Amino acid sequence: MYNIVSASFGEIFLKGKNRGNFEHQLVEQIKFALKEFKGITIYKDLGKVFIETTNIDDMDGIIQKTRKIFGIVSISPSIKVEKDPEKIYEKAVELFGYLKENQNIKTFKVNTKRGDKNFPIKSMDFSAEAGGKILAAFNDVSVDVHNPDAEILIDIKKSCYISSEKIKTVGGMPVGSCGKALLLLSGGIDSPVAGYMIAKRGVAVNAIYFHTYPFTSERANEKVKQLKERLEEYCGKIKLFSINILEIHKAIKEFCREDETTILARRFMMRIAERIARENSMEMLITGESLGQVASQTMKSMIVIENAIDMPILKPLIGMDKTEIIERAREIGTYETSILPYDDCCSVFAPSHPVINPKMDNIIKSESKLNVDELIEKCISTIEIL
Ligand code: ATP
Ligand code: MG
Repeated sequence: MYNIVSASFGEIFLKGKNRGNFEHQLVEQIKFALKEFKGITIYKDLGKVFIETTNIDDMDGIIQKTRKIFGIVSISPSIKVEKDPEKIYEKAVELFGYLKENQNIKTFKVNTKRGDKNFPIKSMDFSAEAGGKILAAFNDVSVDVHNPDAEILIDIKKSCYISSEKIKTVGGMPVGSCGKALLLLSGGIDSPVAGYMIAKRGVAVNAIYFHTYPFTSERANEKVKQLKERLEEYCGKIKLFSINILEIHKAIKEFCREDETTILARRFMMRIAERIARENSMEMLITGESLGQVASQTMKSMIVIENAIDMPILKPLIGMDKTEIIERAREIGTYETSILPYDDCCSVFAPSHPVINPKMDNIIKSESKLNVDELIEKCISTIEIL
């Protein structure tokens, strides 16, 4: 029945140049999300974006993918009709018949929006006329303007679109309209959610993953790749930088106090992430930290970890409870992958009693036993880009 999706975007206060960029990024994101479908045309018509397909069998798939695109607040599966009143009435009756076949519909209303003011018939008159045609075609239905079982929406723009429902979608801002950032993506539950939340605000997200192969398995890497793919359904294309930091862990183990392992390793991760971000024009880092969740996420630990770099770090989960994060992970579809049991490098080298209140002086002293620059170079040379 339907051959086009009408998409409304939010944040309508956006004006001027901003709006142009916003719309451009949105169209790019739609193209990426729907790349598997052939015969698609994407275009704008008076303030909405339309996704037209020549294969109506793809419609369900297109709707499922489109629901996840940031920047779109609602979609309506629609029928595109020539802007000829008779043809519009005919299609409206046809759509109503289709709805009635599948649902128990006793009452209805027609709602016309006339974005194109040159269209000769006024909205109210057009709705009344279309309603009359439906009543003439089906004798067991009546009009109810307040609480109808079905609503036929006729949207008259440069073309005309007929629909019957509005599906609420993820909202947010189109990815790419608000800068670029680098997500520290572990295999855990939190960091994918953090990436999702920042991408939702229009930030193009790339990811970096630290492993200690062969102490962490190939399957742990696969798991992170899978998480990246899940996130791409929302975030668009994600470049994943994978780096082996085994040399760093070995050096820490050899020269430093065991209880400082996590803090020291995190400082290295931050430095490497900052460098990769700068080299690839990304302006901020993103982590899945939540205040007080574990020893490395106390205020004192965070201060010491962040002190290693200058780049700002976005922590969208900072005030969330684990249960809230898990709920969100389930919603976006990363949870099942995140709980697969493969160890990440932090758990392999985790101290049994990590420091909770690390002192900056002590950490600097421990670090001075390591050749920081050389270790970073060595590890960065293991980089793989996926
Ligand atoms: P997550 O569920 O995201 O792993 P977590 O609750 O396990 O988080 P930590 O292990 O303390 O918390 O990690 C805090 C943050 O540091 C993570 O959310 C992630 O952004 C980053 N991080 C930790 N380990 C890695 C890693 N191996 N590679 C990339 N980033 C990491
Ligand atoms: Mg973790």
